Amino acid sequence: MSAAGDAAAWDCEAYGPEIAGIGAVCFRAGELGKRVCAGPGECHIAMTAERQRVYARISELAAEGRPDFEYLAETFGRPGQLLGGEDDEPPAGQ
Ligand SMILES: [Zn+2]
Repeated sequence: MSAAGDAAAWDCEAYGPEIAGIGAVCFRAGELGKRVCAGPGECHIAMTAERQRVYARISELAAEGRPDFEYLAETFGRPGQLLGGEDDEPPAGQ
C-alpha cells in the first residue's frame, strides 16, 4: 500500500479491500469512488451506528413476521455481525 496519509490507504469497514477494489470505497458515500469518512476512526464510529440502525430495522421487520428478515435476524445475531463488523463469535449456547 502507499504511504500513510494517503486517502486510499485504508478500507471502509463495511466493504474491505475486495469490494473497494471495484470502486466502492465508502458505505456512507452511496457512490462509487467517493469517500465521506475522513479516516478509519470516523468510519468505525459511523459504521457502528449504521449497524445498530440496520439491526434494529431487521429486528422490527422480523417481528412483523417477514420471512426474509426473520432469516436475516437469525443469520446476524448481533449488530456487530453486520456490514463488515468484526463480531464473528457464534451466538452463546451454540
Ligand atoms: Zn466508511
